[in-house]
Amino acid sequence: MTVKLYDLDSHLSEFSATVLSCENAVAVLDKTAFFPEGGGQTSDTGEIDGVKVQDVQIKDGVIYHYLENDIEVGKTVNCKIDWDERFRKMQNHSGEHIISGLVHSLYGYDNVGFHLSKSEMTMDFSGMLSRDDLNKIELLANKAVWENVKFNCYYPESLDRLEYRSKLDLSEDVRIVEIEGYDRCACCAPHVNTSSEIGVIKILNFEKCKGGVRLWVKCGTDALADYNLKYQNALKISSLLCAEQNNIAEAVEKQLEIEGNLKYKITDLKRRLIEEKVKSFNGESRISAEFECDMDIKELQHYADALYKKAGGIRAVFSGKENEYFFAIVGEEAPLMDLFLKMKQSLNIRGGGRGSMVQGTVFAKRDEILKIML
Ligand SMILES: [Zn+2]
Repeated sequence: MTVKLYDLDSHLSEFSATVLSCENAVAVLDKTAFFPEGGGQTSDTGEIDGVKVQDVQIKDGVIYHYLENDIEVGKTVNCKIDWDERFRKMQNHSGEHIISGLVHSLYGYDNVGFHLSKSEMTMDFSGMLSRDDLNKIELLANKAVWENVKFNCYYPESLDRLEYRSKLDLSEDVRIVEIEGYDRCACCAPHVNTSSEIGVIKILNFEKCKGGVRLWVKCGTDALADYNLKYQNALKISSLLCAEQNNIAEAVEKQLEIEGNLKYKITDLKRRLIEEKVKSFNGESRISAEFECDMDIKELQHYADALYKKAGGIRAVFSGKENEYFFAIVGEEAPLMDLFLKMKQSLNIRGGGRGSMVQGTVFAKRDEILKIML
């Protein structure tokens, strides 16, 4: 059994230990402050005598350190865990216990899922919560932080008559994490000493999950980083739209409305432009090809169809850029298919069609297309 130094002192980041074994770069020490993966939390990382610790796992009470290289057996080694990473996990995990305790006492729901990685923390509850419920929980959780309540982590002598939350049905070696006045829960992970270390607790998002709800929450360092990211975004949008930072949503809405009106006007102008072009189209040749600079596929279809209705023959319209043109071609089925087949044999074409219309994309220059078609 490896002595779990993180159980004795969650703030221990550097320590010495003796290497009991090391095979294929997997080392066992007599004692360790490296927390192994467990209870929904990923393992600590760090260094043992300068060699990187990439992963830590526990099996039957023995803690295995997965290293970059082998280390010498029997040697006393200096160990250092990545403290910033560990501390942010403690802030998040301790924040999770406060929220789970509040959800349990206020709504009676159980925490049925927990995941804490480098990038996010999620927690699942057995019943649904509304945005209003979550606002209430978030405020109470932050009040618990302001009250600077103690976290007591211990192995009770007896579990009889001890009420606590637990995801698993444990009977021995149960470690209890108690937050005075808020929660008592079975948990193997290292926690903060007092709630003020957690910093702000922010519920970012929630969605229905397996008959209950999943929450995305950030605490402390992560919450501050998230605030900074959102602040930078707000700053940029406010400068781009010349709007007060706290009014950017309204400014974006206004901008979208302007964009919608412009789109409507552009569509109307294009429709009128097509009408004019069709009016002045003489249709002297049996096959024609028009090149336009900015039309979508619907407009191309409409334009080609209008030309065909006016002059018959085979009417093709292209839009796009050199080497990548969208097209729509309208004509009587048999001659249209003959022409399309000829085009496909000589040009790189994606697309097809049936009846009196073909459409797609042709990857060729304008001159090459005209040479094949006309
Ligand atoms: Zn826990």
